[in-house]
Amino acid sequence: MTQVSLPPLGRDGDELLAEMKALRDRDADWYGGKVWSLVYHPGDELAAFIKEAHGLFFSHNGLNPTTFPSLRRFETEVVGMVSEMLRGDEDTAGTMTSGGTESILLAVKASKFYMQAQRPDITQPEVVSPISAHPALDKACHYLGLKLIHTPVREDYRADLDAMREAIGPNTVLVTASAPSYPHGVIDPIEAIGALAQEKGLCFHVDTCIGGFMLPFLRELGHDIPPFGLEVPGVTSISCDAHKYGYAAKGASTVLYRNRELRRHQFFVYTEWTGGIYASPSLAGTRPGGSIAAAWAMLNRMGWEGYKDFARRCLATTHQLIAGIEAIDGLFIIGQPDMTIFAFGSDRDDIFGIGDELSQRGWALDRQQTPPSLHLTVMVHHEQVAGQFLEDLRWAVNQTRRVSPGNLGRKLGVSFTKSLMRNLPDPWVKRLTGLAKKMGGDDVMPKRQAAMYGMMGELPDRGDLHEMVLDMMDRLQEPVDAQPANGGASASTGPPADELPNDVSPASGA
Ligand SMILES: *Cc1c(COP(=O)(O)O)cnc(C)c1O
Repeated sequence: MTQVSLPPLGRDGDELLAEMKALRDRDADWYGGKVWSLVYHPGDELAAFIKEAHGLFFSHNGLNPTTFPSLRRFETEVVGMVSEMLRGDEDTAGTMTSGGTESILLAVKASKFYMQAQRPDITQPEVVSPISAHPALDKACHYLGLKLIHTPVREDYRADLDAMREAIGPNTVLVTASAPSYPHGVIDPIEAIGALAQEKGLCFHVDTCIGGFMLPFLRELGHDIPPFGLEVPGVTSISCDAHKYGYAAKGASTVLYRNRELRRHQFFVYTEWTGGIYASPSLAGTRPGGSIAAAWAMLNRMGWEGYKDFARRCLATTHQLIAGIEAIDGLFIIGQPDMTIFAFGSDRDDIFGIGDELSQRGWALDRQQTPPSLHLTVMVHHEQVAGQFLEDLRWAVNQTRRVSPGNLGRKLGVSFTKSLMRNLPDPWVKRLTGLAKKMGGDDVMPKRQAAMYGMMGELPDRGDLHEMVLDMMDRLQEPVDAQPANGGASASTGPPADELPNDVSPASGA
């Protein structure tokens, strides 16, 4: 780590805040609606309200609910409200967590321990899940040492039931599905998978992290939403993020179980500690009271009607966007999205090239693979920018068609390519440059993200890509002004390191 020092004397508070604001001003313009993921903004008035609620409990710690009965009340009531939304009953039990990832991790943990309590013969537990599942599941299995078996999706991008059935073996403890999946916004056949789980005696987790605060309200509005919640026989757990379409402060999700027995397997208790008896419901020890309190405040402030209104508006904007995109020659929507997240591709132009052009105008979209596509999560604050986005998209498509080698050069490394290049150690840069040459361009450096993705496809195997991303993460975890320890050339080729574009990561998934 390069030297970054704690200032010997504390710095002036106003000066620090001014510096922070200046840094913030150079971030992606989510407030202007340019970012199609990551930030769920309910509007200024509600945001101010949530901040106030958060501030009231800023110092509280949710680890010990007996010290803070207020937080206990908030947490249990949030879980109760979500349980009603997801059609739980009096047996349903749940916990608030820091996010979808923690909710899924805990569901996997509880399922594993619950199943092994009944089937001690299972020593190498396995999970079966469609490839469209959020990587939080892969992460959970990776952390907990479970083997995850991915099954294909059907042509409509929904889970393939037959493939899941075939993948289930004697060591399977859990199957999962999404309502909807993040990449393509489609709901897996939850009822059929529930029946399969029951037949095989397995746990079944439904990931409704992104859909939990949208689908129930679309259903209330009269849209045809298939059963996906705890009313479906066979579902044993479900995850639902308040900090996505619940528009709560970040750090707020829920995990719910069919009954208390399942939830007990989530808890951790250690009675022998010299410091006393330790009991922790979730992954975190210390839990930020502000996030719990703000979620409670937001759910109550919105109510069914508030969320219904948001759902109606998001869906209307989604339909406007989909119609506009389909009207552009060559572009198409991937699958038939069930709510307000979707992806589009192109059968005529390079979709990542289009994404690069959009980046020039400040738009930030996730890049997705298999099939190559750009992803949009539509939120209320996108209402005002949908028209502008479509206009810029038409422009971007035309730009992409006009791209000549000359104007590729002009835009040298504007987005991902440059940030990746400057965040990769030297050997990688050499290697990728070599690949770029091999791909037919006489340019020395890969110019744009589109080229980058093309090259990633050319890498001999996915293991290389894995290593490359690990190396990039190493760099990103260093102070921005750090020079690479090996004096690599990559650091001298780009803009100042703090000018990383917002789409430095290929996918955000949130
Ligand atoms: C966002 C998301 C997650 C992960 O949630 P985090 O809050 O980012 O940890 C999991 N599953 C789906 C479907 C999601 O959209």
